[in-house]
Amino acid sequence: MNLTAENHRVPLSDGNSIPLLGLGTYADPKKTPKGSCLESVKIAIDAGYRHIDGAFVYYNEHEVGQAIREKIAEGKIKREDIFYCGKLWNTCHPPELVRPTLEKTLKILQLDYVDLYIIELPMAFKPGDAIYPRDENGKMIYHETDLCATWEVECHPYFTQPKLLEFCRQHDIVIVGYSPLGTSRDETWVNVSSPPLLKDPVLNAIGKKYNKTAAQIALRFNVQRGVVVIPKSFNAQRIRENFQIFDFSLTEKEMKEIEALNKNVRYVELLMWRDHPEYPFSDEY
Ligand code: NDP
Repeated sequence: MNLTAENHRVPLSDGNSIPLLGLGTYADPKKTPKGSCLESVKIAIDAGYRHIDGAFVYYNEHEVGQAIREKIAEGKIKREDIFYCGKLWNTCHPPELVRPTLEKTLKILQLDYVDLYIIELPMAFKPGDAIYPRDENGKMIYHETDLCATWEVECHPYFTQPKLLEFCRQHDIVIVGYSPLGTSRDETWVNVSSPPLLKDPVLNAIGKKYNKTAAQIALRFNVQRGVVVIPKSFNAQRIRENFQIFDFSLTEKEMKEIEALNKNVRYVELLMWRDHPEYPFSDEY
């Protein structure tokens, strides 16, 4: 596959295609100034990104929509150039809620359609207005669900998912790897006992050879093996840096060296919900 900055899409079974590199947009709403997401998405589109990953529960989807609409109005892009992925939150799993929830997302975005709509987490919470519904004792209220749908997968050099990747290849399924740089290491929801991915000596040494950063090597590794990555950055320099991965390629030996870094450790374990009957991370994928 010849990957270029202008064209790094992979085909999907329904005839559509998805860019292998996208911008992640989750940032803690309490710590992130309003407008950062709007600016970052605009910078990303100018830098060449055509895939944006968002969600209702990130509380900044209106900024993503505004950025896309502004760039369309400027004539920089057309709607069909952009691949937007939205997500169905845990309180909206009952089938009759799916369509109205998607329609709410379209209203927030002020766009006519999303390109992909996925189940954010395979663990249903009680439907209602509360995003994190709790009982009078503060315990989360879960909900039963009949779940048979797609699932996004954490994927990076410390969690390379060889078995899942092989299964998906055999069945023509494209994997989207979240947290491809090893997350923001926010201790409230990230397993920080695993060392920071971007400090890894192998990634840094390979980076030195190509005059690239460990982040660029981690991203290139995944796109080179056909895994879509959605690194999040709200920093102009790093947004651009993360896009500069199409002007070099890793050798087979380097790909193997990076594969060997796998520790089978997840950064996103969501242990606070491990008593949910559908908690997904105890099963092998
Ligand atoms: P990432 O692995 O993308 O890492 C993001 C962190 O890395 C931020 O702190 C960012 O800071 C920093 N960073 C970005 N670029 C660089 C760079 N070049 N060098 C050094 N540091 C860098 O983590 P996420 O967990 O955010 O995952 C990416 C996206 O995946 C999310 O934003 C979201 O869209 C999606 N996601 C979906 C989940 C789900 O359950 N469905 C779960 C987790 C993520 P800064 O902004 O300051 O650059």
